[in-house]
Amino acid sequence: MSPDTLAPEGPAMCRPRPGAALDSLVGNTPLVRLPRLGAVRPGVEILAKLEGRNPGGSVKDRAALAILKDAEARGLLGPGKSVLDASSGNTGIALALLGAARGLPVTVCIPANANEERRRTLLALGATVVLTDAQEGSDGAIREARRLVAESPGKYYYADQYSNPATWRAHYESTGPEILRQIGGAITHFVAGLGTTGTMMGTGRYLKERLPGIVRVGVQPDSPLHGLEGLKHLATAMIPSIYDPSVVDVQETASTDESHEWTRRLAREEGLFVGVSSGANFAVARRVAESLREGLVVTIFCDNGDRYLSERFWDADLC
Ligand code: PMP
Repeated sequence: MSPDTLAPEGPAMCRPRPGAALDSLVGNTPLVRLPRLGAVRPGVEILAKLEGRNPGGSVKDRAALAILKDAEARGLLGPGKSVLDASSGNTGIALALLGAARGLPVTVCIPANANEERRRTLLALGATVVLTDAQEGSDGAIREARRLVAESPGKYYYADQYSNPATWRAHYESTGPEILRQIGGAITHFVAGLGTTGTMMGTGRYLKERLPGIVRVGVQPDSPLHGLEGLKHLATAMIPSIYDPSVVDVQETASTDESHEWTRRLAREEGLFVGVSSGANFAVARRVAESLREGLVVTIFCDNGDRYLSERFWDADLC
């Protein structure tokens, strides 16, 4: 256990830096076997990295922590500054959580149709929530964040997760090395959904440098109007400036329906209660695995199912 995770008992001067204990809980998530759904055939297996085990409940804790540490190191979070970003929910929650532990005010622009769990979690963590036009989705939230920064440039540190290099570096420095430590060189395919694209840009680059034969598979929704929270339909969305298409060897799509179906099955058959983008990643990981004679496919389960409990696709099961 890191000393930062222990409650301070000594004199005040021995207390850890505000936020340090929480920071030390980010990352080092488990990479698990899925004995029922992931063992596709002898010699072909899917493993999943459980990012919902991060303290903020999602993969975005890694990027948010890297963004805050980078801003701190550059002296950009002086007194009176608020951290601002646009988010479909998880980055906002991660910034709110890590910001709360540091005593930093956080403002999050989020589409008005983001589900209640996300909005209420942000408020519970003390963030200021700016609801943006539901029809404009995450791009509308980005436009509003830019407008707020332009209006009051001195007030905010704009985290800008879609353009901030810390977003992908977080994964280059943590997710990639962790996967390699956890499974060694046997991995043949890496499957990850594309939102900011940070998970794929960072983990994909790291893994390719160490395992040149690895195939990196990007997952996008199959249509502009979709229910895959956190993922972008890149052909019709604002392209994140950190996105480099050459890092994705194969582009795949997942439908909202198949993602819901795999999300349900992961809960029922593996006891893994994960979010809908995890279902999308798993749908693609299964297709990839089924096409192989031999291989080890690693994918990302981005967050937990409880962040989606109010969504209609559970209704038939839960009512
Ligand atoms: N799934 C969920 C639930 C997310 O919140 C995100 C982040 N937008 C992603 C997938 C995609 O991750 P990334 O931003 O690293 O591409």
